[in-house]
Amino acid sequence: MTAPDPDAGELLRGRGLRSTPQRRAILAVFRGGAAEHLSADEVHAHASQALPDLSRGTVYATLAEFTETGLIAAVGTAEPVRYETNTTRHAHFRCRLCLRLFDLAAGLPGELAAPGFSVERIELRAEGICADCTDYEAGLEAGTSSMLRSGPPVDALSLAGVACAEEPGGPLGPLLLAATPEGLVRLAFEEHADAGALRARARSRRGSQAARRQLALAAEGLGRYLAGEPGAIECAIDWSALAASDPAALATTAAIPYGGTSSYSDLPLEQPARTLGRAMGANPIPLLTPCHRVTRGVELPPVFVGGGERRRWLVAHEREHAGELPSVARGARRGPRVR
Ligand SMILES: [Zn+2]
Ligand SMILES: [Zn+2]
Repeated sequence: MTAPDPDAGELLRGRGLRSTPQRRAILAVFRGGAAEHLSADEVHAHASQALPDLSRGTVYATLAEFTETGLIAAVGTAEPVRYETNTTRHAHFRCRLCLRLFDLAAGLPGELAAPGFSVERIELRAEGICADCTDYEAGLEAGTSSMLRSGPPVDALSLAGVACAEEPGGPLGPLLLAATPEGLVRLAFEEHADAGALRARARSRRGSQAARRQLALAAEGLGRYLAGEPGAIECAIDWSALAASDPAALATTAAIPYGGTSSYSDLPLEQPARTLGRAMGANPIPLLTPCHRVTRGVELPPVFVGGGERRRWLVAHEREHAGELPSVARGARRGPRVR
């Protein structure tokens, strides 16, 4: 890269990043020049001269963030050597989003040996987007468009004792909530197909006392969340009423910490990627189950049940209030699935 502007703060803000001592110290390590290709460890060693408490984790996360925003470029492969039981000669496919490596059945070139040379190893690696990542996005799109077109599979207003409320969502716009006496069953954004009906019910003040109490608790939790208090939005969820919305998939998002993200491919689930994408895209209780923290590997998908702009706001809001670190969970928790 070229030598950074002396005002690192301005440079950071220009990329939408808050100017923090950690980010400034890491950026200051880069001075430009034809031979400048620093490893993360070298960056850590230099930057911790200025900031002795700087952790390796912060350096890795910050370099990823700088690369993502185009402030610096990454060269070469950050990948460790990987081991596998398939000892036959075969080619590989690396997904640039989920970063998993897949075996390819075909694709090895024929004989490369010239007379007198004996080939002992051929490496061939294709790169691109894997079938799972493509399927996940297609599922997200299908799920989200179903929410705009027809709303969730179970109409919240058909449930016994249900009560509704409309709460201010700040930059997210009005939020329409529905609860049964057992817990929350719906959080709709303005443009969802059922928002109008939920709003009309909220104004009618109908519904059981127990459901109203659930709404009041959720509203309080939402208020604290929007004000920047880190942590989960405490409220009960009526999972039995949400049986058609893949509760298992939605519930796993609660394990992703506030301010963090996790790839769909790292969630402890066995659903096919498309089914999982659909469940996230049609999440009837966004925010209450934080599907905005589920990424497609290194990408924050622009498709979200509340639209890409709300997702970006939510992730930035949490990062800002969680402290320094964006924790991008990466790597294959599950082994690569061969297809
Ligand atoms: Zn992938
Ligand atoms: Zn292999």
